[in-house]
Amino acid sequence: MTMNQRIEQCVRCLYKTNHPFGLTLDKNGVCSGCLVHEEKDLLDWKMRLGMLKNLTDSYKLKQSKNYDCIVPVSGGQDSFFIVHTVIHELGLNPLLVNFNRNFNSAVGIKNLSQLRTIFPADFRQFTINPIISRKVIRTTLANLGTINWLWIAGQTSLPVRIADELKIPLIIWGAHQGIEQVGMYSHTDEVEMTSRYRKEHDLMGIDEKEIFKFDPDFNPNDISSLTYPSDDQIIKNGTRGIYLSNYLRWDPVQQHTFVKDKYGYIGRKTNRTYYDFDNPDCPVYNGLQDYLKFMRLGYAKVTDQLVRDIRHKRIDKESAKRIESEYLNKAPDSLKGFADWLGISVKNFGPLMLSLDSNFLEQLLSGDWRSEINELDKPNLNHIDSVYKFIDSDFKNFGKGI
Ligand SMILES: [Zn+2]
Repeated sequence: MTMNQRIEQCVRCLYKTNHPFGLTLDKNGVCSGCLVHEEKDLLDWKMRLGMLKNLTDSYKLKQSKNYDCIVPVSGGQDSFFIVHTVIHELGLNPLLVNFNRNFNSAVGIKNLSQLRTIFPADFRQFTINPIISRKVIRTTLANLGTINWLWIAGQTSLPVRIADELKIPLIIWGAHQGIEQVGMYSHTDEVEMTSRYRKEHDLMGIDEKEIFKFDPDFNPNDISSLTYPSDDQIIKNGTRGIYLSNYLRWDPVQQHTFVKDKYGYIGRKTNRTYYDFDNPDCPVYNGLQDYLKFMRLGYAKVTDQLVRDIRHKRIDKESAKRIESEYLNKAPDSLKGFADWLGISVKNFGPLMLSLDSNFLEQLLSGDWRSEINELDKPNLNHIDSVYKFIDSDFKNFGKGI
């Protein structure tokens, strides 16, 4: 959409036409996300589960001497649900793959070690050099206003790289966010993973080849681990990535209840979200990263949670609006801890982000919440070091409420 088009809100949910994934309204003002969501109550999900089984069975036969598929995991609730489905519903033998983001919450570490312990599957993890990790995150923070780019780049390329390396052609993902949030496709399109979607939507238009333009001193070898295999490699290996949300009626709230009761999954309450189960593995996703998203786009994780509940008819729009307004401006509880990890002072967040819009910076650095942040304990660096090695640790000082 162009700058001078009017931004409108869907008549049913809280999303607006400036949603970064692209959202359209029909003649009644209902958004594409709400319309595609209606399919969840119309499709024959039993039949679609049968389609999924047929698809994955063909890989089981082909791959009898190898893993049947790769499942990317983070330690969030969907990881538990996906691995449960893949092993116990589809009868596959997956290789679980994790891209370590380097800074993890204690809850996330616990969940991931629980996942590795209770499911009968091999696990492989990749940890990028923490010095390079900091450098890349500073660059994306300064130029794209996001902390999350590196992790997304890594966790979307690593499974495809391992698929190529080990000749395992099938990757199984959970939800397709473009369908879940904005109805980019119908569930019946059965869209699969593409490098184009990864670049345009997951990575905000800047992939690992283009990140160098922000800092010519980057050494390509430093981030070679983020390289997404070429189309030729992907075709040669027959790699495809499918989304379970096209075959199962996707409802993260229901899934959470299930994995909490069955597998002891734990959430982590933050002060900017009202559900505790979304992304508890990252100490800043629902805090600082979410505040940056709000500044950049005018909505936040709480909006995503409320839209989901409106569409699943768990809340009405007016109540959702009220709750959203209570959360949007809340102080992120992770700024100080994250600034320490990144190796910059809170006051230098401003200069670091000079290339961004000045109003954005002013809003980020002003406000009462700054005093709250200053009261945070200093993170214990020994604990942070132990997280690099990814052993279980008491990481309580990294942001409040972990
Ligand atoms: Zn809508």
